[in-house]
Amino acid sequence: MPEGDTVWNTARVLQRALAGARLTGSDFRVPQLAATDLTGWTVRESASRGKHLLLRLTSPADQGGRDWTLHSHLRMDGAWRAYAPGERWAARPAHLIRVVLRSPGAVAVGYHLHELALIPTAEEESLVGHLGPDLLGPDWDPDEAVRRLAAHPDETIGEALLDQRNLAGVGNLYKCEVLFLRGVSPWTPVRAVPDLAGTVGLAQRLLAANRGRWTQSTTGSLHRGQTSYVYGRRAQPCRRCGTAIRKEELGERVTYWCPACQPDR
Ligand SMILES: [Zn+2]
Repeated sequence: MPEGDTVWNTARVLQRALAGARLTGSDFRVPQLAATDLTGWTVRESASRGKHLLLRLTSPADQGGRDWTLHSHLRMDGAWRAYAPGERWAARPAHLIRVVLRSPGAVAVGYHLHELALIPTAEEESLVGHLGPDLLGPDWDPDEAVRRLAAHPDETIGEALLDQRNLAGVGNLYKCEVLFLRGVSPWTPVRAVPDLAGTVGLAQRLLAANRGRWTQSTTGSLHRGQTSYVYGRRAQPCRRCGTAIRKEELGERVTYWCPACQPDR
């Protein structure tokens, strides 16, 4: 599930593959960028902000020599992969390809990307300025995240943690796992959560712990089937108390929780 840590990892993959490189070709397979050609453009750097990817480029001098950002969002199913030149693009079916960026040392292929847009770097804030503090950002600000959460006292904590305007990077997996570990029901209103700062701090530590690897684990185990406490474990016994894990819709997403370890308040 692409959450803040996955997007952070993806940004690093693109950074290693393309940073400093001059593109030798591009192929956009989305209508809004079909006529765009980034041949000759230089990749400055790749960064993530919450679940948004920002690939920063500079256009050639004869095209203005200006700083631009190729924005993409992975949502539930998007991915970027870097291949060596000549390597077969085996990660996903070809019909999911939305963009191909070629450089002398690597080919970056974006699959099923959302919100693909090329904007002046100076206007990045128009796409990511609404986001709350980024859990994996250099400017992570837990106090500001708590302040933003607390501004919605009647919302459920399950929905508030997913709202990227409060804090950026938590997806459904970390939401479910953090609330289990804190013993808080996802339906608890924000005002009744005993320790918002502790909840936010734990979310940050869990994401940070999974930086640099693709298996997301909140239990400490990387073994298949043992990487989560509640997420994806409907009807299986709680690892702490044995009660069957439940799954229900909460807002627009499903949530998993243990009714015994996470009682309603
Ligand atoms: Zn339990």
